[in-house]
Amino acid sequence: MRWSLPLGRVFGIALRLHFTFLLLVAFIGYQGFLARGVSGAGWAVGLVLAVFACVVLHELGHSVVAQRLGVEVRSITLLPIGGVAALRSIPENPWHEMAITVAGPLMNLVVAGVLLPVTGWPREFLWVHYPDDLPGLLRTLVGVNLGLFVFNFIPAFPMDGGRMLRALLAMWMSYRRATVVAATAGQALAVLFIVAGLKFSVMWIVLGAFIFLAAEGEEKTVKMRSVLREVEVADVMTREVVTVTPQTPIRDVLAAMYRTGQDDFPVMEGERLVGLVTRPVVIQTVNQRGEAVPVAEIMDPDPPVLSPRNNVAWVHEQVMSEHYQGFPVLENGRLVGLLTPDNISRYLLLQESLKGWRPVRATTPTPPPATAVVPPVATPPPPPKSAPPTVPS
Ligand SMILES: [Zn+2]
Repeated sequence: MRWSLPLGRVFGIALRLHFTFLLLVAFIGYQGFLARGVSGAGWAVGLVLAVFACVVLHELGHSVVAQRLGVEVRSITLLPIGGVAALRSIPENPWHEMAITVAGPLMNLVVAGVLLPVTGWPREFLWVHYPDDLPGLLRTLVGVNLGLFVFNFIPAFPMDGGRMLRALLAMWMSYRRATVVAATAGQALAVLFIVAGLKFSVMWIVLGAFIFLAAEGEEKTVKMRSVLREVEVADVMTREVVTVTPQTPIRDVLAAMYRTGQDDFPVMEGERLVGLVTRPVVIQTVNQRGEAVPVAEIMDPDPPVLSPRNNVAWVHEQVMSEHYQGFPVLENGRLVGLLTPDNISRYLLLQESLKGWRPVRATTPTPPPATAVVPPVATPPPPPKSAPPTVPS
């Protein structure tokens, strides 16, 4: 996520703090200052930091269980609205999803359980006033953790309850169907929140709108993945690929971008792929060093490559989310195509426009070889041999 500061690593997972979180700390500190002066500001900031430490524990609960079940966790980012653990893939085994999801709220229950004998029962369950001493802060923290535990069982995305509901449903029906049902239930709940918010509090309206959009987003993501799972790289890749050589000056690469609409260019030495040159690198080099630099100096000499038989959903999860670029497709060491994020978006767009989701497979059993592997031409077109006929006026 952009605009986030790295805080270090826990269990091999990068912990990041979104920059807007600092604004929240400043805002709460100021509120505490207005209520009780400097010490009020100190306790208020202390409370926010303690609450977010609990949010980190919650996210670590999800992440550590996910790691145990073989799902790679990329990072945990702290936002003012809570934490987000970025998993590399979403588990589709309902038991795994259930275990990963339940682990988060359970961490809040554990924190509350550890503090409860020291503090006694809290006066309120989601913090309402600012504490002015340590016992007050700890008691508020118990209330917040119990509140988070219960709140996360609300069966609506993006709350953990939505995922638990889907996992339960997925034990009886397909994962995609379960997502649609869980998302619809979440949206019905969101509408209830909004209606209740009209009478009680604006916060409920905000929360309702948030849940509504999140449910829709989740449904879309799952639909997208289930469509892409039916597709192999050969079905959607571009077969007419323009390639360059290590000696090509990037002026010609730029010209080829205009001419072909292609952004990334495989670099070939004869029949052999020796690198990939991408648009951001070309643009940066043109701006800093001019247009005469040869491709060899700026290409990635060891780009990730795909096979025509790779599953597109897998490609999307493994590589596209990290490098937004094209991937050379090789078959028996020979370049047969290029798969770009645009290929995938266009496929999804077409599928969405067609009535009903209909995964389309190429009918040809083996992909025909790539054609039009043409290096861009550096020389301008030759002038016409004879002057064009002129009409005397
Ligand atoms: Zn959670």
